Amino acid sequence: MTDFKRDGSHLAFCPPVEKWDDWVEYDPDEWPRRVEKHFQIVPTICFNCESACGLLAYTNKETGKIEKFEGNPKHPASRGRLCAKGPATINQIHDPDRILYPMKRSGPRGSGQWARTSWDEVLETFGARIRKAFQENRGEEVMYHVGRPGHDFIMERTLQAWGIDGHNSHTNVCSSSARLGYLLWHYADRPSPDHANARFILLLSAHLESGHYFNPHAQRIIEGKMAGAKLAVVDPRLSNTASMADYWLPSYPGTEGAMLLAMAKVILDENRYDAEFVKNWTNWEELEIDGFRAQGQSFNATIDALKRHYAKFTPEFAEKESGVKAEVIVKIAREIATAGSRFASHLWRGSASGNLGGWQPARALMLLHVLTGSVGTPGGHNLNAWNKFVPKTFKTPPPQKRWNELLYPPEWPLCTHEMSFLLPHFLKEGRGRIEAYFTRVFNPVWTYPDGFSWIEMLRDEEKVGLHAALSPTWSETAWFADYVLPMGFSSERHDLMSQESYAGKWIGFRQPVARVIRERAGEKFDYTYQANVGEVWEEDEFWINLSWAIDPDGSMGIRQWFESPYRPGQKLTVDEYYGWMFENSVPGLPEVAAKEGLKPLEYMRKYGAYEITTDVHRQNEKPIAPADLAGSNVEPNGVIKKDGKAVGVMVDGESVVGYNTPSRKLELFSKTMADWKWPEFALPEYYRSHIHRSAQGASMGNPPADFDPKYMPRVEWPKDAHGEVYTLLPIFRLPNLIHTRSGNAKFLYEISHKNPLWVNPVDAKQLGDVCTGDLLKVHTEIGYFVLHAWVTEGLTPGVVACSHHLGRWRVNKDEQVERMSSAWVDLKEVGKGQWKMRQLSSVQPYDSPDADTKRVWWSDAGVHQDITFPVHPDPISGMHCWHQLVRVERAAPDDCYGDIFVDTNLSFAVYQRWKALARPAPGPGGLRRPLWIPRVVRPVESAFYMKKD
Ligand code: SF4
Repeated sequence: MTDFKRDGSHLAFCPPVEKWDDWVEYDPDEWPRRVEKHFQIVPTICFNCESACGLLAYTNKETGKIEKFEGNPKHPASRGRLCAKGPATINQIHDPDRILYPMKRSGPRGSGQWARTSWDEVLETFGARIRKAFQENRGEEVMYHVGRPGHDFIMERTLQAWGIDGHNSHTNVCSSSARLGYLLWHYADRPSPDHANARFILLLSAHLESGHYFNPHAQRIIEGKMAGAKLAVVDPRLSNTASMADYWLPSYPGTEGAMLLAMAKVILDENRYDAEFVKNWTNWEELEIDGFRAQGQSFNATIDALKRHYAKFTPEFAEKESGVKAEVIVKIAREIATAGSRFASHLWRGSASGNLGGWQPARALMLLHVLTGSVGTPGGHNLNAWNKFVPKTFKTPPPQKRWNELLYPPEWPLCTHEMSFLLPHFLKEGRGRIEAYFTRVFNPVWTYPDGFSWIEMLRDEEKVGLHAALSPTWSETAWFADYVLPMGFSSERHDLMSQESYAGKWIGFRQPVARVIRERAGEKFDYTYQANVGEVWEEDEFWINLSWAIDPDGSMGIRQWFESPYRPGQKLTVDEYYGWMFENSVPGLPEVAAKEGLKPLEYMRKYGAYEITTDVHRQNEKPIAPADLAGSNVEPNGVIKKDGKAVGVMVDGESVVGYNTPSRKLELFSKTMADWKWPEFALPEYYRSHIHRSAQGASMGNPPADFDPKYMPRVEWPKDAHGEVYTLLPIFRLPNLIHTRSGNAKFLYEISHKNPLWVNPVDAKQLGDVCTGDLLKVHTEIGYFVLHAWVTEGLTPGVVACSHHLGRWRVNKDEQVERMSSAWVDLKEVGKGQWKMRQLSSVQPYDSPDADTKRVWWSDAGVHQDITFPVHPDPISGMHCWHQLVRVERAAPDDCYGDIFVDTNLSFAVYQRWKALARPAPGPGGLRRPLWIPRVVRPVESAFYMKKD
């Protein structure tokens, strides 16, 4: 304990590491008496978003109970700081309603009848079902479907060890669109901006307050700003992020591409582009546009052709599309040009995931980086692949031989990830069935569009044979499972993570705190669930044991991948899995650990994170490894190949690795798009969204001249839909909530528990002088939802908005979803595919072992909007396009707050209309998908080819 000093010099940002084994604080409950409390502090990693910030778990040495979580100062990305969701982990681990034991359904699916079971029974049941499926050559009927991964590589390894193409993810409702835009340029599908060193930062989102890696990024954005960088934010909403900006550009949603291309035109026309960079590092020589072929032409002639091509994107055109003044667009373009190589940006969801063609703004944004030469530079745009580190494991299984069309169907050959949100429709069409289905941190009934189609699928035992929800809490989806298997929170499990948070490369180690502390004290555990509360387990050990249950004697060739690298033939332990990796695959870690007399695993258990390097810029300029160079040849276009595979490129007389694209350069011109039936989008272009103003007229039967049905699906309103047409923005996040996973965090729900419909005063007047609190009915293409209005000028007119995260519900009065965050509802199927939900009661105080549940003062759980949305698969990226046209009217007297109606027959029809826009495989050579485009859990090359029959 340090003596108090008036100047505050006794205060420390975080407890120093040397005191982590016995950290002393005064017990606030004993104030004003000075009663000491002794803590043991163990680092772990937050699991409440993908940022993977470092946590410190403070365990009371007397009671063995974790009492709080704070930031880990030794974590290089989060540097001891957290957002509100990190410390709220304490609510999650002490949630009185959490699931403590594996549960098995004891009544019909969805009936809510459950009985406790054992982990042994779970392993035996699933082991036998999966073994049989494999033996009968039905591997594609085994599927793992993940919401929040929270780890790197272990599942890919497990599924490849099983030899199946069975990885499904949530990515196509999240970020596929932006990913496609980025990967078409440089293969890496995520940006890694160096905000801290930027001179100008452009965010197409509310990224400073929410979104991917936002806490680590937010720190660096503010650092950049404090060092003089200017910040511009494109967002129809006056978000907290926009309120911090030097420029707020409240564009009409879906028009961002027009604005960005207008900025590119300004930079081109004013000759402020970095000619040397564009000449050296783009594939300009492959350009073919408007009758111009760059091959054999000069660079200057090609630039002139580009100028001619983009001439239509005048700032005035962009103003007409977006509503942002032409002079502001010009000003931002000049700021970007001035920042040059120190221009940073971020685009992830928002405009990308909301809009049809939302991958084009990512391409247009990258064009600005390419023109300014701000790729791979300090203060510029870096590639996630350069900043993220995934260590190799002790033994890597070979790629699977099969291709699962339930994951990558032929209609969307360029989708970056699995077409997961269409799964109910695929099964309805008879494309397959699932024998064993694992959903993990995944609640599609609630988070996906068209949740009632998911309920119809999940309750059908013909379509889904056996379903286990791997989840620490009940959810709308878990209710329809056969088993609910409790997996640990941040302080109850092992995982290894790394993210592209800043200009550096690091790994973070999540660990089960109780087990670590008890093992330090000399106890021994075979499995983490023996040390955790109840029998809460962790996935790593579950998958190892399930693999042994599938192949108990090793005859199927599966078990070998889950045997110890140190004890031949024995079952792999988590210590061995991570210990081997830290010893053998993380550069520099063994040496750094040795300096402290520690083994690498001990070092990671002590500090929770390790920074590998900050030398991450311009990796494209690295020389080719001598082994790759030996025996290689240079193609006429400068690409260096060895054994038919590209290994580098000649640039300015030097042989360097370049980018992982076909040209090994930044692909200004995408031959891939041209070859795969989309030649009109070979360059970054402006793709008008399905919510473009022209689509509004078309939806009411008055298509304007500029409405193009070739690219936009027709909107058909249900016959009972009335009211004015608006664009709904349904995906903005609240900074303190976690999709559906914050329902058990009382600190967070106390802050936010409503999701009213944002309406601009202009529109409120048009709707009949609507005031804040009035009840509105929002019609989608498949149903409606009823909620309160919030009249605000913080939103562009013509647009309405409703936040994500809220509107949880439960069908059982006292169970299913936590009572502090959900409404008790009456859910009925009133006709075939017609679903009606009405709230019976909202949030109320209740008795539980946590006295705070008696003090719940809020009475609103919000309204579930996503379940009333149809699926909107982008024909190219495959992303679900979240924004949508809706009709809004005042609610009728018999409508109640929270009412929901959906017709899944209509949702199937909308699916068909969107599917018709796609241009299916095969592509060149009978391929299902371009070979160079990455795929999660990539199969063997031969699986990429469609069979002739
Ligand atoms: S940003 Fe917040 S929720 Fe995400 S990992 Fe960091 S502390 Fe956790």
